[in-house]
Amino acid sequence: MPAETEVVIVGGGLAGLAAARRLHRAGAPWRLLEATGRLGGRVATDRVDGYLLDRGFQVLNTAYPRLGTLLDVGRLGLGYFTPGVLVRRGDELIRLVNPLRKPAGAAGAALAGVGSPLDRLRFAALTTGCATLPVRRLLEAPEMTSEVALRRAGLSDAIIEELLRPFLSGVLVDRQLETSSHVLAMILRSFARGRIGLPAEGMAALPGAVAAPLPADLIDLDTPVSEVAPGRVRTRAGEIACRAVVVAVDPPAATTLLPRLSRVRMNSYTTWYHATDNPPVYEPILLVDGDRRELIANTVVVSQAAPTYAPEGRHLVATSAVGPSIPPEPAIRDELTRLYGRATADWTHLTTVHVPDALPATPPPQGRLRKPVALGKGLFVAGDHRDSPSIQGALASGWRTADAVLAYLRST
Ligand SMILES: Cc1cc2nc3c(=O)[nH]c(=O)nc-3n(C[C@H](O)[C@H](O)[C@H](O)COP(=O)(O)OP(=O)(O)OC[C@H]3O[C@@H](n4cnc5c(N)ncnc54)[C@H](O)[C@@H]3O)c2cc1C
Repeated sequence: MPAETEVVIVGGGLAGLAAARRLHRAGAPWRLLEATGRLGGRVATDRVDGYLLDRGFQVLNTAYPRLGTLLDVGRLGLGYFTPGVLVRRGDELIRLVNPLRKPAGAAGAALAGVGSPLDRLRFAALTTGCATLPVRRLLEAPEMTSEVALRRAGLSDAIIEELLRPFLSGVLVDRQLETSSHVLAMILRSFARGRIGLPAEGMAALPGAVAAPLPADLIDLDTPVSEVAPGRVRTRAGEIACRAVVVAVDPPAATTLLPRLSRVRMNSYTTWYHATDNPPVYEPILLVDGDRRELIANTVVVSQAAPTYAPEGRHLVATSAVGPSIPPEPAIRDELTRLYGRATADWTHLTTVHVPDALPATPPPQGRLRKPVALGKGLFVAGDHRDSPSIQGALASGWRTADAVLAYLRST
């Protein structure tokens, strides 16, 4: 490890990698230090007996604006999900498609079965506004919790409790829907504008593609940073002197390295992976619980979207729940039997992935979502907690922070 460089990036998640890409393009000397033995941070995939098990079910939205600058999404070999959901309600399994992805006039039919006709029109109006209004308008709108925003849009208790709360709780990792309406608007916008998919090689292919153009000899794995200060970074292997430091670690680690940052509350997420010979549905579509039981946020046969996630002839089911507790697997399996309306006794439980610090909570006020990244004296902070809690937020934050670093280097 060299004793000095211009910029040290601490953390090799999506934010740190995007920052490195921006600095590399500008020709600024940099070095990235990552605590663990791999890049990607919260986006990781384990290969187990021919299955691809992401560290918590997560998906890539093709509408994320920062993706195009950093990679060719076409080369990820995405397998796509149906733009819609199945809703279990009593004996019925209701199939709803995204109204914005149906031909004009079909929105009502697309949502038939949950909520009233007026609900369908109001939900279509809400999502159309999020998809088409300029981002500036969405982020200048009065801010409130997502739950209040949905009720203010005139949506009934039935559509909120049977469809939107179960669906959004998995997306926002927030069962209470306390997330800022500004974050909700950006999420609805990307759902309306993009497609949802999984890379053929697992979600880890995403940070892999962002890192691919970077010289490997500028990245130090297994190098936890214990201290940052203006002009220097300390590791077990010694100190590096630098002009700027980008702290692109996860939110809890960021407040350890930079105690002046306010602590961010993190929401937890658990995914159970099951394997089966007979998929309970023959479609890549998310199933949510309209019966208000609140145990499971969503379940999906991921191998229907991306067949590479399971060995030939087998199928992989990912089932996720939100919150700090980890319900026992037999309770989850009972719920799966009810939700799919199919026996699950012969399913194999592969593993349970619990991510205690999955996503930063983003209650109002979040304002325009962009928090300051320059802390003074050449110290900078990046990560999803500085933008929106998502892949897009992490990538955009890394890029924006590196822009601020370049301006700082030019001015000093
Ligand atoms: C289960 C789950 C599901 C999700 N689902 C979705 C989804 O469907 N869609 C979506 O858009 N987003 C989703 N997300 C969110 C998305 O994955 C994150 O917002 C994003 O990956 C955060 O990237 P980051 O670079 O900000 O932080 P991180 O990925 O946390 O990266 C920080 C890096 O810093 C390293 N580090 C920490 N401390 C140190 C230190 N002292 N020294 C050196 N390195 C250090 C860490 O090892 C890590 O590699 C999900 C997240 C989880 C966990």
